Amino acid sequence: DWINFTVFFNKIIDRFEMTKSQKVTFKRDIPNEELYVDIDTDKITQVLDNIISNAMKYSPEGGKITFRIKVLEEELLISVKDEGVGIPKDSVKKIFERFYRVDKARTRKLGGTGLGLAIAKEMVQAHSGEIWAESKEGRGTTVFFTLPYDPNQEDDWE
Ligand code: ATP
Ligand code: MG
Repeated sequence: DWINFTVFFNKIIDRFEMTKSQKVTFKRDIPNEELYVDIDTDKITQVLDNIISNAMKYSPEGGKITFRIKVLEEELLISVKDEGVGIPKDSVKKIFERFYRVDKARTRKLGGTGLGLAIAKEMVQAHSGEIWAESKEGRGTTVFFTLPYDPNQEDDWE
């Protein structure tokens, strides 16, 4: 479906903001413009749900979560940044593998199967996008993904 990604992303963040605990704060760095993309909304909803629920799960008391959309030449760069526990350097690439969880002891009490990001990766790739993470232990994590975007699309319709 062709949808305005700005509105779509804001609605998903709203849903998390409504149910979130007091311990985290949200910041949105989202352009105030229409950004039309052709996506499977159910699948990209699941991608965002998985990424955002991780950010909440691994955030400390008082942590800030920053949501961003950056418009690049041929794609949208979407990111979710947290101030949580972070991920050790040699594990950052592995978190997208099925059942991979950093430090079994640490994550056991938080629950989960280790499938969330593997599913997210599959769905982003099905949209010809890419997904990756950057992290610093003890500082926080940012998960990025891209979606193909044609800035001239709107012009073509005129
Ligand atoms: P599930 O999503 O299936 O409930 P999960 O959250 O453990 O379980 P993934 O979402 O695939 O699984 O994440 C894999 C692992 O990557 C997590 O167990 C955790 O160790 C690490 N991880 C993912 N996101 C973050 C984050 N924002 N901060 C710190 N660690 C993270
Ligand atoms: Mg998860």
